[in-house]
Amino acid sequence: MDLATRLAEVDTRIADAARSAGRDPGEITRIVVTKFHPASLVEELYALGVRDVGENRQQELSAKIAEIGPRDGLTWHFIGQAQTNKARAVRGAASVVHSVDRARLADALHAAGEGAPVLDVLLQVNLTDDAGRGGVAPGDVEQLAAHVAALPSLRVRGVMGVAPLDEPPAPAFARLRACAERLRTVVASADWISAGMTADFAEAIAEGATHLRIGSAITGPRPTRG
Ligand SMILES: *Cc1c(COP(=O)(O)O)cnc(C)c1O
Repeated sequence: MDLATRLAEVDTRIADAARSAGRDPGEITRIVVTKFHPASLVEELYALGVRDVGENRQQELSAKIAEIGPRDGLTWHFIGQAQTNKARAVRGAASVVHSVDRARLADALHAAGEGAPVLDVLLQVNLTDDAGRGGVAPGDVEQLAAHVAALPSLRVRGVMGVAPLDEPPAPAFARLRACAERLRTVVASADWISAGMTADFAEAIAEGATHLRIGSAITGPRPTRG
């Protein structure tokens, strides 16, 4: 199967899952995760009409943008763990950062943003029991939201989550949806839910995901990193 066929097939599955959940497929943004693949893959995807791509490492993101150059309407989503000392580079590259999980990172992104357009950010929620994993604890979402909402160069758009490997995805996405509802008590307009990957995007759609981060189902297997 080629790239265009895989993309069309995933889009059909997204539309089917949306309809079974009683949702309009048009309210769902499909982000193609291109990490580990060459920049040329982003160009192929762009030619196929893809306008949202995701990367999880700052250096790879910046290098691909430099290689491809500006493309009308192409939105780069940063979906990986961000180190505070990379905040300036992340901010210079991405239009949306899905992985804000602590006040210090938000502060660094804000400090890096003088004169830049407002940056859309999502609060990454830790859906596992392991406090060492990325993401704010579900109980701390409102507190972090209030902190980030006070930083004028950042706009809180919603929550992001990755389903744990050791439980079915649906209950984890239900917890994420509950976090999204609590976030909206602090930032009423923050209605994005970034959830769902190759293995679990249908379950994420059923739990209200607005932004899917889909890699291998579209790109094929990722090359191993050398
Ligand atoms: C790699 C990655 C994805 C995409 O994973 P696939 O299983 O290939 O769809 C989604 N979200 C994050 C945070 C990732 O790092």
